[in-house]
Amino acid sequence: MSELLIGPAVANPPLVEELYRSLEDKVRALRPKEDLQALERAYRLSASYHRTQKRKSGEPYIVHPLHVAHILADMQMDLVCLQTGLLHDTLEDTAAKPEELREAFGADVARCVDGVTKLSKISLANREDRQAESLRKMLLAMTDDIRVIIVKLADRLHNMRTIGSLTPERQASIAQETIEIYAPIAHRLGMGKVRGELEDLAFQTLHPAEAEELTREIESKRTEHERWLDGVRSHIEGKLAREDVPARVQGRVKRAYSVYQKLKRQRITLDQVYDVLAVRIITDSVKNCYAALGVIHNEWHPVPGRIKDFIAMPRPNLYQSLHTSVIGPGGTAFEVQIRTEEMHKIAEEGIAAHWKYKEGGKNPHGDDQRIAWLRQLVEWQREMSDSGDFMSTLKVDLYSEEVYTFTPKGRVMVLPREATPIDFAYAVHSDVGHTCVGARVNGSIRPLKAPLRNGDVVEILTQPGHMPSRDWLAVVKTSRARNRIRHVINAVERAKAVEIGQKALEKEARRLGLSLGRISQADLDAAASDYGVGRTEDLYALLGFGKLSARQLLQKLAPEEVPLTEAAEPAPAPRLPQAPANGLLGADNTIHVKGADDVLVYRAKCCNPIRGEQIVGYISRGKGVAVHSHLCPNVQSLMYEVDRKIDVEWARSGSDPLPVKIIIYTDDRPGILHQLTSILSSESTNIRTLEARGDHSRRDESAIVDILLDVKDKKQLERVINAFRRVPGVRDIERLFTN
Ligand code: MN
Repeated sequence: MSELLIGPAVANPPLVEELYRSLEDKVRALRPKEDLQALERAYRLSASYHRTQKRKSGEPYIVHPLHVAHILADMQMDLVCLQTGLLHDTLEDTAAKPEELREAFGADVARCVDGVTKLSKISLANREDRQAESLRKMLLAMTDDIRVIIVKLADRLHNMRTIGSLTPERQASIAQETIEIYAPIAHRLGMGKVRGELEDLAFQTLHPAEAEELTREIESKRTEHERWLDGVRSHIEGKLAREDVPARVQGRVKRAYSVYQKLKRQRITLDQVYDVLAVRIITDSVKNCYAALGVIHNEWHPVPGRIKDFIAMPRPNLYQSLHTSVIGPGGTAFEVQIRTEEMHKIAEEGIAAHWKYKEGGKNPHGDDQRIAWLRQLVEWQREMSDSGDFMSTLKVDLYSEEVYTFTPKGRVMVLPREATPIDFAYAVHSDVGHTCVGARVNGSIRPLKAPLRNGDVVEILTQPGHMPSRDWLAVVKTSRARNRIRHVINAVERAKAVEIGQKALEKEARRLGLSLGRISQADLDAAASDYGVGRTEDLYALLGFGKLSARQLLQKLAPEEVPLTEAAEPAPAPRLPQAPANGLLGADNTIHVKGADDVLVYRAKCCNPIRGEQIVGYISRGKGVAVHSHLCPNVQSLMYEVDRKIDVEWARSGSDPLPVKIIIYTDDRPGILHQLTSILSSESTNIRTLEARGDHSRRDESAIVDILLDVKDKKQLERVINAFRRVPGVRDIERLFTN
């Protein structure tokens, strides 16, 4: 880092220096051994980056990061947090580079500052209400170190405290964002104090009239309230002392926003709000919490239905306390919260209590409990195996299944991880999906298949008349996109099949000298219903997809004019391929297409499936159905066209021997071939070819035996192979799937 930036040339106004000194004092009082030089370096560097900037209030900009660091110091955050607080606006607003921060302060600080910057780049205000939850999740998902969120909350807190100098529009938008996004996150993280202040500040900004009226009303009764609370407090203290329950008792008037919400929610007047006045009893043990509750209920009548035991049943953010409302002196109802010191700390500071710097690594909670805490907080799915340097390695990967993206107008699109711009397009509208030809992500053109990331702003480029491509099926992640794409592709292919089928029928009719004009619509309808389809068009589609031959259909339509078998008509349908020697089985009894007899079926040459084996059929247009072993490597690529897949099954009867190729790797020793062949003859299988050769690629004495043999079914093949394996000297056996 250059001398110029941190040298004395940067003369901060005395007030600024003082603000920094008081930060140092705060940290020194808390942690005498802290590296204050590292803190000062962060301050100096930040001040020099921001030196030309001023806040809207006219103060030097560095005042803001200093106050943020003060807030973090009050929360007793660690050095990384404080440095991040000081530097948090440098990447966004100044010429600072992440590498510079990494070099000067280490990877943690650089990463945290970067994290805060990323969050700041997203404007969250003025979005639809129902998107708030998505946005909160997104912020947490974008954060890989919870300290980023803590710094962001401190930043927001200071911005809210000083919001007065902004334009009214800006104020409203920041306050809205605060109440919808940041206060709930603070609540989620159990940071009651931060949440309370954020809410009250936002409330004052958004509803100044109501806030003022409510505050005035509460304020007007302040003296009365205080006198009343003092009386109650000393009364309770006396009673608790008599019962030997050590405790401190606090009386308080509830915050304006929480009273406002209660008024709005329950449509009641201020006099009826139990919770305006509240007393908090903080004691030393859980046992004494319940003892104190007994003392309170002994003294005053509880309001029915308002006793809540959050000790036995902690809230999801791990808040624990006993709550009760009682009718106190003069018939005034008030709320009593009872908790231990530990619970109190967690209620006030939440997750921050767990992130506090611990002197000498002493940690009263232990990492295990921290992890449990976090899991609770963020519904953490994954196991944390490493409990080592928890602070720096922690990943808040809580919504790892989802990615949060935006339309250019700021609508949030929640998509599955790895979702592509195509998924995004279909999420916007089917027509946008069908016609999308490109995507602009964060302003630059990105491939349609590139996965989207959290916070991406996605603009879809469309072209009227464009059709979805079949490859999209392999890259999309949402079922919505997949279904829409498939729908369009099916419709297109079906239209093609109908056309092909109709032509095939006409051609076959011409060949047979049959006039299609003589076939009535009623006959066609009847045939359609015989084949289990609705319309003539569907019949053509069956022809086009090869599920039915033109001749079969004509035979059905005009039985007396079309001969039953081809025997009398020597020329077979020209589109049918000739059977390979051991391949084409035609409409024999070996394999059936489920639900349709007489469909031309042949065993694929690449794998020669054998009886009993799992098989899949694949419609090869115009050639019938190719049947593959489910193990065949070709199946995967063929089945890409899912529409062409068809269920096939082995016929119950039939025992035609089927050829299978096997390779046996053996020791090169005399007599082994004899043993192998005698196994085959005892199984009465026919050997078509057998070839043994030395394996010269290996130095040891090994040989390879290729056998092409006929087997009846899978069971027999398994028997043969198992017998082979038992022959001494046989090392390995493979079934060959390619030609
Ligand atoms: Mn800031």
